[in-house]
Amino acid sequence: MSAINSHLLQVGVLREQRPGERRVAMVPHDIRRLSVKAVLLAEREAGRDAGFPDNVYVEAGARVTSRGDVIAGSELLVTIRPPEAPQALRPGSILISLGGRDDDLASALRARSVTHLGLERLPRTTRAQSMDVLSSQAAIAGYAAVLEGARALDVLLPMLTTAAGSIKPAKMIALGAGVAGLQAIATARRLGAITHGFDVREAAREQVESLGAKFVFPNVEMAPAEAAGGYAAEQSADQLTRLRRALAEHLAPMQLIVTSAQIPGKPAPLLIDEQTIAALQPGTVIVDLAAESGGNCLATRPDETVTTRAGIRILGQTNMPSAAATDASRLVSGNARALLDHLIDDSGRLRLEGDDPIIVALLAGQTPTRALVSAVQEDRQP
Ligand code: NAD
Repeated sequence: MSAINSHLLQVGVLREQRPGERRVAMVPHDIRRLSVKAVLLAEREAGRDAGFPDNVYVEAGARVTSRGDVIAGSELLVTIRPPEAPQALRPGSILISLGGRDDDLASALRARSVTHLGLERLPRTTRAQSMDVLSSQAAIAGYAAVLEGARALDVLLPMLTTAAGSIKPAKMIALGAGVAGLQAIATARRLGAITHGFDVREAAREQVESLGAKFVFPNVEMAPAEAAGGYAAEQSADQLTRLRRALAEHLAPMQLIVTSAQIPGKPAPLLIDEQTIAALQPGTVIVDLAAESGGNCLATRPDETVTTRAGIRILGQTNMPSAAATDASRLVSGNARALLDHLIDDSGRLRLEGDDPIIVALLAGQTPTRALVSAVQEDRQP
């Protein structure tokens, strides 16, 4: 045991660098739990904006130090978004972060001999569910989208009866009824809106209806829309044009539209074009959760709110989960801990080999630097 403790794997948590990003990849609660089998380093103020000050990291057992020290001292680094300067990472180290579909990042990391475990590559299986950052953050994004949308609306979501008269509940629709869309429906319903949902996957109908929302079924023929892993298949340009025209009549009476339609690794499908926007009522708010991958609405501008001359507002925040940074960080951190628990066995050995489907998917053909994996393992031989 003393041999193990003399060289536990060094795991570093970096402060996020993107402007406006308030989340942190690991919170003190999970640092404490992991510290039985790894040495944890945290960059100074890594969790400050998420509500976790440095002293709480220290109490949890982390060594809080400069960014340079964390990078130099960590065999394995955990961040949400990939670091801005991959060329500054330690050769032979392992990076766990988003960015798993970014080819430029992959080649920069390969050139530096850094093994990247891109979180988008986690299989969508029951075993990997606890590690699934995309799902945990999509759930927060769906919730936050409705709150942001409600604030931008000039009408109330719930019905309200007063001596001065009655207010009708607002109508809301989620386009894309995956994790984010379903959470948006659930949130809008709790706030009293009349909710609707649409998705190209037939399986989404039951999920939308189970939340008490109406599944909108545009009168258009669609190709089989389910691809591997529960994701949607890409629609052809022609199918999308027909879908947009058929959806328009369902969108016209809505006050709040939350869009989250995505195809992994592809630009977001365009569901709302100029013609559809022209048919909406003044004051309608669109929250486009697909803004980062091009947007589901033609007028979306990433990280801006666009107001059309007719008074339609389109919110294009690309980092919605950061609006609830404390809980978003707790969930990301729970995902990261579940993954690290999977990769590091009880005696502190790093497992990056074999035919485990989670490890195979994360490695995506990369061969981790043998020197690192075996050196760490040899040090641990009792
Ligand atoms: P996503 O973020 O890739 O896409 C969001 C939604 O957009 C999806 O439901 C997709 O069908 C929909 N979409 C794509 N093109 C569309 C179009 N043209 N029009 C309307 N909608 C369109 O998806 P997601 O939220 O990550 O989840 C996709 C599915 O995977 C869901 O069924 C979810 O329940 C499932 N899932 C399974 C697991 C697991 O088993 N571990 C984990 C997470 C999600």
